[in-house]
Amino acid sequence: MSTRVRFAPSPTGPLHMGGVRTALFNYLFAKKHGGTMILRIEDTDQNRYVAGAEEYIMESLAWSGIKIDEGVKEGGEYGPYRQSERKEIYKEYADRLIENGWAYYAFDTAEELNAWREKDLRPKTEDQNLTEDERLKTWKFSYDTGTRKYLKNSLSMPAKEVEQLMDEGVPYVVRFMFPLDEEIVMQDLIRGEVRVNTAALDDKVLFKSDGMPTYHLANVVDDHLMKISHVIRGEEWLPSMPLHVMLYKAFGWTDTQPEFAHLPLIMKPVGKGKLSKRDGDKLGFPVFPINWKNQETGDEASGYREAGYLPEAFVNMLALLGWNPGTEQEIFSMKQLIKAFSLERVGKSGSRFDPEKSKSLNHAYIQKLGDAVLGWLLVSQGFGDSRIQGFGDSGLESQSKMKQVVGLVKERMNFLTDFWDQSYFFFEAPTVYDAKMVKKAWKEATGERMGKIIEIIREVEGSGLKAQDYEDGIKAWITEEDIGMGLVMNPLRLSLVGAPKGPGVFDIMEVLGKEEVINRIQKAITILG
Ligand code: GLU
Repeated sequence: MSTRVRFAPSPTGPLHMGGVRTALFNYLFAKKHGGTMILRIEDTDQNRYVAGAEEYIMESLAWSGIKIDEGVKEGGEYGPYRQSERKEIYKEYADRLIENGWAYYAFDTAEELNAWREKDLRPKTEDQNLTEDERLKTWKFSYDTGTRKYLKNSLSMPAKEVEQLMDEGVPYVVRFMFPLDEEIVMQDLIRGEVRVNTAALDDKVLFKSDGMPTYHLANVVDDHLMKISHVIRGEEWLPSMPLHVMLYKAFGWTDTQPEFAHLPLIMKPVGKGKLSKRDGDKLGFPVFPINWKNQETGDEASGYREAGYLPEAFVNMLALLGWNPGTEQEIFSMKQLIKAFSLERVGKSGSRFDPEKSKSLNHAYIQKLGDAVLGWLLVSQGFGDSRIQGFGDSGLESQSKMKQVVGLVKERMNFLTDFWDQSYFFFEAPTVYDAKMVKKAWKEATGERMGKIIEIIREVEGSGLKAQDYEDGIKAWITEEDIGMGLVMNPLRLSLVGAPKGPGVFDIMEVLGKEEVINRIQKAITILG
């Protein structure tokens, strides 16, 4: 059997980074085994449909470098890949379960079920010692092997009555019928053997009165029809596994049932609990791959892409959440991940998200990029500021300037968004001067000295005016005058940058060019005296 896996998100909002991790592990597993990666959109719950979410999912996966072999956009032999377009298929399977006695019709209205949830209508046979209050507090209604006989369904009602209700067009749902008191024994590739008794499970709705299947039916039917070999998904779906395994049995598909692997939760950086969508920007880092904006409500959330992460770093960071290579290696390209990945090395327990580690990974990935490539990335993706736009494409001169600037500030960048703050002075002359620095660096004699520096710079000639040429000229004069370096270098930096920051002064001079350097010093003399 060939390896076929699927990522099956519901388009109910932006994809959480945990969702991208699920997609990634599916992708790594598929590629490792020469298999197929499928994207199936599970949009049968029309009440939870959110416009734009499906496009968001696809864009997020594309940005992350997770390539889909079969899917809504890609097509494929087993399509359509959007469940809302497969509507007709599911009814037939629900009917089949009714016919062979694995499901039943239920007519209970929402109000009736609510009444059950609020008040135990079950005859009080069990614990006679409980007070009414205690009984209500501990009571948790479930439509199950114990309660179904008291409810309005085709098991509890005479066949004639059922027929009549159906003829009258009274809305009904189809529920799965768990056998009484049966131990379900399951295998999970990460958790090992999992057992549960059917008495602890509720008769889930499989098919709704609106003619749509629920997640459970559609998911299992599609996994079967799409010949899925492995279901790799988040731990939150573990409680659904018994129902899914029983559905395979009920349909007679046990032989080709996929193997299951439930991935551990991603936990908050500190404290208890899983990293949830709501943590969003509250904790100081994004929980979504790319920026999200709800087209109807206007709700927004930030993403890793716009926060200045490289997709390679994002993916590397996600891979290490739950999976470990068993070695000290931390930096993995997608290719290396595919080679190294295995479900055996995915842990059972929750994996704590470490924002500091993500940052240092991103830093490392930025350093790995060539200066020209990084420069092009920054310009083409609009990082930094609109004022750097055009530096990549308006001719060779600005391209090489961009490359030079990148080379000088790259080391100080953790995120692509850091670029502008580290480099703005290369693109525009200072208009204000840091007051503290002025006080410290600009003395009585400074104006005159800077005038002299201008003269020296005018005379500097060399191999295309490299940093070294400026350095040689200026340092020779400093030695001749026998004054401290700081008396010249600090006001020089102030004139060129306007603040006590930036790379080496001579490097800055090289990039700015002779004319611009002279103009900036002149301006500082005029303004600061
Ligand atoms: N539609 C489910 C989700 O939103 C899919 C769960 C599964 O992979 O079975 O995650």
